[in-house]
Amino acid sequence: MKFSFYQRVLLLLSVLLLLVQLGNLSAVLTTIGQDVRTQLRNELSSGSQLVSQLAQRRSDLLQTSAEVLAADFGFRSAIASNDPITIRSALENNLSRVDADLATFVSLDGRQFGNSSALTEDVQVYQTLVQRAAKDGVIVDTFVLGGKAKQVVAVPVKVPLTIGWLVLGFALDNKVAQSFSDQVNMHVTFAYKRSTYRFFGSTLNLGQRRLLPEAMDSLHQSDHGQISMLDDKDFLTEIVPLGNNEAPVVVLLHSSLDDAMASYRAVRKRLLVYMAISLVLALALGFWFARGVTRPVKLLADTALRIRHGDYNTALCSTLDSRRGDEFGELIGAFGDMQKSIAEREATILRQALFDELTELPNRRQAHDRINAQLADQSSCHSFVILIGLNRHREIVESLGHAVGEFVVQAMSERLRKSAATAQMIARVSTDEFLILLSTAENIDGVVYAETLINELIHPVTLERAEIVPDLSAGIVVLPDDATSATDAMRRASIALTDGRENNSFACRYENGRDESHIRRLSIVADLKKAVEQDQLILHFQPKINMSTGATDSVEALVRWIHPTDGFMAPDEFIGLAEQSGNIGMLTQWVLNAAIAQISQWNDLGIKLKVAVNLSALDLQDESLFNRIEALLIKHKVPTTQLIIEVTESAMLRDTQQAMITLKRMRARGLTISIDDFGTGYSSLAKLKDLPIDELKIDRAFVTDIEPNTTKTKIIKAIIDLGHSMNLTVITEGVETQEEWDLLSILGNDVVQGFLISRPLPAAELTGWWINRYPEQVDRVA
Ligand code: C2E
Ligand code: CA
Ligand code: CA
Repeated sequence: MKFSFYQRVLLLLSVLLLLVQLGNLSAVLTTIGQDVRTQLRNELSSGSQLVSQLAQRRSDLLQTSAEVLAADFGFRSAIASNDPITIRSALENNLSRVDADLATFVSLDGRQFGNSSALTEDVQVYQTLVQRAAKDGVIVDTFVLGGKAKQVVAVPVKVPLTIGWLVLGFALDNKVAQSFSDQVNMHVTFAYKRSTYRFFGSTLNLGQRRLLPEAMDSLHQSDHGQISMLDDKDFLTEIVPLGNNEAPVVVLLHSSLDDAMASYRAVRKRLLVYMAISLVLALALGFWFARGVTRPVKLLADTALRIRHGDYNTALCSTLDSRRGDEFGELIGAFGDMQKSIAEREATILRQALFDELTELPNRRQAHDRINAQLADQSSCHSFVILIGLNRHREIVESLGHAVGEFVVQAMSERLRKSAATAQMIARVSTDEFLILLSTAENIDGVVYAETLINELIHPVTLERAEIVPDLSAGIVVLPDDATSATDAMRRASIALTDGRENNSFACRYENGRDESHIRRLSIVADLKKAVEQDQLILHFQPKINMSTGATDSVEALVRWIHPTDGFMAPDEFIGLAEQSGNIGMLTQWVLNAAIAQISQWNDLGIKLKVAVNLSALDLQDESLFNRIEALLIKHKVPTTQLIIEVTESAMLRDTQQAMITLKRMRARGLTISIDDFGTGYSSLAKLKDLPIDELKIDRAFVTDIEPNTTKTKIIKAIIDLGHSMNLTVITEGVETQEEWDLLSILGNDVVQGFLISRPLPAAELTGWWINRYPEQVDRVA
């Protein structure tokens, strides 16, 4: 069983009080009990004196009567006659006068005359009497005579010499006992003890008398006298001897202890009542005290519990405030302070967890929760999640520093607060992205709303020395049409934002299915590394034919991916992802190795082919690229002249400095540099002269459906002429028809690549194609 502090205090107080009360009570009651017994004892001893006096008075009276009768002339004459009948009648005549119930004359020779019985025990008594009378003259004593206890007097009868003794006796019967009892005010019994008690007159009732022998046998001595039980009551008994012979009759004085204790019991009862009342009062006081002590403790415990459950705001009970002035007051004060500081700290933590520090806008987490809440709200109409991205923010930070970056973000957040004031929420969800949750009953178009918003935001941000014109894009998700969870909504808004950026549009709504392709792209990125490691990639080769000679001097290596589950995958699907995910270097390395190894194999077969490898823009930024290529060429014993590098026009111009260094070094070592997809970039033709290139590949878009005398044809002609003027070989890719071939031939194109000649083929097939196409060279090969 567990007690609370309060219960324990209360229990302690009550037990203490109870013990003190019981101690007091027992002390008082013992004293009173002792007093009662002592008093009773005193009453008994004065009773015994009174009883002795009463008995003495009676025997005096009896003696006087006896002496009067013994001196009576008539009586003496009757005695002198020696006639028993006369003596008995004289005795009987005087009996009523002297108020005795025994009157006997005992002659000198021991004969008896009178109303005495002739019991043997009586004879014994009379003999004793006569012997003592002969010696002492007058006898006053008690005896048992005729089965009764008696006060007996014997006086000599003289004529003038003693001729015998007159014996008078009173029976100590109930009547006498009653008269004694009336005087001493306690029970009186006459008894006689030899081996056992014999009882005669008594004021006890019959029941008590029946118990008397047993009670007297078991009489025991206590501090306050002799106690025995009668009728289930304790009696204090005093034994008073009457007479002076060896075994005299005694008076037993009985005083009921229980009756004497009656007053004591009443006192006890009253005391108990007082005690109960005082206990109740004391308990009430204790209750009040315990409450006073435990209430603040309880209050603090409750408060601690509340704090544990996250409630810091309920104030500590005002009636028990720190003004108490005692230790509890101090504790309550300290507790209050603690609660306050915890609340403050938690508020700070909560703010940090849910708000962006810089702009004090809700953060991503809160945005997430709010979108979910919005989705859960059945009553709400259409809502929009608009993700606004600060384009090229990283570049601003990198070139102008963090402070400027933060300044711009802050400026944007202020503008958003004003322009999107009706929005449910404006949040900053990443370094350069804001999210707006808009729920409106009006039938508005999210894209239009976002475009208007961006228009309001894009005026220049003024710095100390310059101005920055923010570049913003937005991705829009319509709830719940486009997404049913906050996670989906935020991801899809981000996809829409990226799509918008790629399309160079201000705002773009999420397009159904984009997410899936996005996810697919993610899994492709994840799988790409494995693809390289586990040789899931292969190279296909597409021949290029020299228009004037008809010879195939080179082939272009094009990578393919046989995905274990998705099957054949075209490079357009994964090259871009490899670039974005930073895996392009690894892929390029694989392609270079495979292509150079293939050159080496063909060399061994006697097939002399140059192989063109496509590099991406990022490859050109890699300083180690050149060394790696060289190492591979050496490893496979392939001359540098057999490797062609194809780089797109835009890649070449991306980071001009490093790209130029790499390209120049490669060219200097004898590699052929080809500018791919020419015509699609924005670079002017004039720029060409600065580039370290050998070949120019006209993009296949220019070739499709070309006809003589069209603008397209004129452009091709211009490019071809330009290339030639710069001593570049001009290649046209994507040639699918004979017409195209013919036209290109007229325009002066040097080399042709396309389906018309061959699709890209695996190495073995290309070998077959080559042998088939140039049988005259086969011998040489063999
Ligand atoms: P690209 O460099 O322009 O490659 C030529 C693309 O045109 C190839 O597509 C080829 O199959 C296709 N083609 C050739 N002849 C014709 C034709 O007559 N008609 C049509 N319609 N298309 C023709 P593919 O193999 O799908 O490659 C696509 C692009 O992927 C390549 O364009 C290239 O930029 C890139 N790529 C391929 N392999 C690699 C690689 O190993 N590394 C890098 N960085 N990029 C590669
Ligand atoms: Ca190419
Ligand atoms: Ca191309």
